[in-house]
Amino acid sequence: MHQYEGTAWEEHFLPRLTSRKIAEMPKERALVILPVGAVEQHGPHLPIYTDTLVGEATLAQALGHVSLETEIWVLPPVCYGKSNEHAGLPGTISLSAATLHGIVMDIAESLRTSGFKKLLLFNTHGGNVDLLNTAAREIRIRTGLTVFYLSPSSLNVAADLLEAEELKFGIHGGDYETSVVLAIKPEWVDMKLAPNEIPAMSGYEFLTLEGKIRFAWKISDISASGVVGNATVATADKGRIIQERTVAILAKALSELCSFEIDNVISR
Ligand SMILES: [Zn+2]
Repeated sequence: MHQYEGTAWEEHFLPRLTSRKIAEMPKERALVILPVGAVEQHGPHLPIYTDTLVGEATLAQALGHVSLETEIWVLPPVCYGKSNEHAGLPGTISLSAATLHGIVMDIAESLRTSGFKKLLLFNTHGGNVDLLNTAAREIRIRTGLTVFYLSPSSLNVAADLLEAEELKFGIHGGDYETSVVLAIKPEWVDMKLAPNEIPAMSGYEFLTLEGKIRFAWKISDISASGVVGNATVATADKGRIIQERTVAILAKALSELCSFEIDNVISR
């Protein structure tokens, strides 16, 4: 099967349209989604394309469930992210913060020129989060677009599926992420090599890897295998449940973003 078959690509992929169709389409409510991923080491068992792959698959599934009258348009992903925390590990291809910021700003400017009003930055790589939140505000200020930000992995759909340790520390290539890739593209996972590596952080009361009080790290500070989490217990069944729950939330949330009007936020 060709990559671009199915509802998401037929009904919601912006680049499949002609320039003229885009000129003529209504844009007041239309939401344009820019997926942003990464190409970076994901341990000995997962492909370096994991984050971008998960983003595209999740969106493709969610768009199969949005109501037909919603005007939602997906762009090709920014496949590469800010991955310098994995620099030096083979396969990691990282953009600098300035480059990624510039790419996202340029795409936003181009959308504004095309007449669009709403942009969603749909991110699937932890290392992009801070930069994309900064970029979202910059886009709002510089272009006037209404900009949304969303990371599907932060929707907290897996609390009853994962162990407490994994929920706290499983931030890269662990049970959550490995299960999701097993559900999406099992042929690209080598479970024989799946590691279990939890950083020695349980003795701290306040300090966490990505919580409210944190320290800056590069992957070699917190993991020898390149994985932070327990990938050995990952299953495709868990991944399917995670994806179903994520997709159910996204299908409704995307409609809400379409109807959101920023001018109505100030109470009068
Ligand atoms: Zn990842």
